[in-house]
Amino acid sequence: MAVSQMDTDVAIIGGGGAGVAAAIEAGDAGAKVVLLEQADALGGTAAISGGGCLIVGTPLQESQGIHDTPDLAFEDWVKWGQGAADEVWARYYIEHSLHDLYFWAEKYGAKWIDMKFQEGNRVFRWHRPANNGLGLMTALIDGMKAKGATQVLSSTAAEKLLTQDNRVCGVRAKTGKSGQTTDILAKTVIVATGGFNSNLDMVLEARPEFKAFKVMEGSGRGATGSGHKLIRELGGYFTHMEHIWFYVYATPDYRDPAGRRGLVFRLTPGYVWVNQQGRRFHDESRTGGASATPALLAQNPPHAWAILDTPMTAKMEVADPYYRDGDKVRRDRVQELLDSSPYIKKAESLGELATKVQVDGPTFLNEVEQYNKAFDGSLEKEPKFGKSLKQSKKFDTPPYYAIQLFPLARKNFGGVKTDLRCRALNRYFEPILGLYAAGEVAGMAGGHINGKAGLEGTMLGPSIFSGRVAGGWAAHEAGFGPGFIGKPNRPLG
Ligand SMILES: Cc1cc2nc3c(=O)[nH]c(=O)nc-3n(C[C@H](O)[C@H](O)[C@H](O)COP(=O)(O)OP(=O)(O)OC[C@H]3O[C@@H](n4cnc5c(N)ncnc54)[C@H](O)[C@@H]3O)c2cc1C
Repeated sequence: MAVSQMDTDVAIIGGGGAGVAAAIEAGDAGAKVVLLEQADALGGTAAISGGGCLIVGTPLQESQGIHDTPDLAFEDWVKWGQGAADEVWARYYIEHSLHDLYFWAEKYGAKWIDMKFQEGNRVFRWHRPANNGLGLMTALIDGMKAKGATQVLSSTAAEKLLTQDNRVCGVRAKTGKSGQTTDILAKTVIVATGGFNSNLDMVLEARPEFKAFKVMEGSGRGATGSGHKLIRELGGYFTHMEHIWFYVYATPDYRDPAGRRGLVFRLTPGYVWVNQQGRRFHDESRTGGASATPALLAQNPPHAWAILDTPMTAKMEVADPYYRDGDKVRRDRVQELLDSSPYIKKAESLGELATKVQVDGPTFLNEVEQYNKAFDGSLEKEPKFGKSLKQSKKFDTPPYYAIQLFPLARKNFGGVKTDLRCRALNRYFEPILGLYAAGEVAGMAGGHINGKAGLEGTMLGPSIFSGRVAGGWAAHEAGFGPGFIGKPNRPLG
């Protein structure tokens, strides 16, 4: 095998949120950077994400009369993490989110346009950038390219970390199209390869109890855990791996030849979910991983049917690039899904629908009747679970649809343990020399910044932030710059 060689100061594996942020930071410090991305284009899961970031004390919050503080956010964060959050990293991120994420991203042209309330937060602090994750990542990628410090090798997958004298000294990579193998020799290496939720085997290894029923892959296509393997080979310490954020408003992707992927669909406030006995079991407006997921998993069997009438389908969005054209929903493709998926049933009456999905007919019809009665009585909330009916409607317009829901693995809250400089640690909590890790491979930051549950916006934000931290310190170790300093959002001292 002919192996070519190249030299750089900092090599970064993975061109998603963390990798691109790391490249900007290392480049700004004066280091020469090589960024490897296995896909044809940069962006990773970050570019297909909602783009929402938890940020504290922003002008957008102030403009809506919301006074938020790092202390308030920290309390919410730690409580929601159920005792498993890395409090040091959580505090570090929260304190830095205003200057080192909000204003920093704006500098590259990102625009924070609105906010959404998310479960577990006492105030609105989930900030959405224009054009979601794609908008944010496009701004950062363009900014990185404009600086000229980073050489991007796309369609190039890292296969092995190279070591010499007990320290990481580079990465061996293969370029897809040519099959060329290259050793990229570097003073420091950052692994920013994302999570493992598009690798069902790894999901089931972390959560063996899920082998008993259907679970779907649901992260970006590149989130296959390849970086975990590279780090594990060098003795990296992985922690909180069982803390996987499952969503339950997802149905199998019938177009996936392997039959493993799922599709998340959202913005269907009027729908109801019933279990296989035909009963509603949850307030369907609470779709979070800490509320909806346990509710679904408590059903027997642990799946459900989302019931919609035709006008409700008009609002449905599918969180997958095939169903979008930039920021627009491809309605034709959503309809194609409704008409073609074997996991979706359609009927002219609710009774016929019950028969098709084999739920108990009288129980199911009674559930829908009770729900509809709340509209007849002009109630603000339906009585069974107290769901607000503001954005909902009665079931009255056939055809009716039943979409089968199974748990979908979306986000990894655990990963390789790092210190506050993002140096990857071994099981003695000593740095593996020359090796850094940021983003979802490091449980978003540090190993487990969220704990058992996330306040939302606590994946992408910390991934980008930890990318910056890793980039700054990896450059410093390579001989460039002072390391990541940043600016907390309150006066020091
Ligand atoms: C549909 C969806 C919506 C989401 N929405 C939100 C949201 O609104 N808010 C939020 O906080 N979080 C959200 N998330 C989670 C968030 O997007 C991720 O946690 C975040 O993108 C992780 O960033 P990362 O840089 O670590 O990984 P990624 O963005 O996944 O980037 C990793 C990159 O590494 C590449 N790579 C992997 N292995 C190799 C290799 N061996 N060699 C070379 N390259 C490699 C991959 O191809 C990929 O491009 C969402 C996730 C999904 C799936």
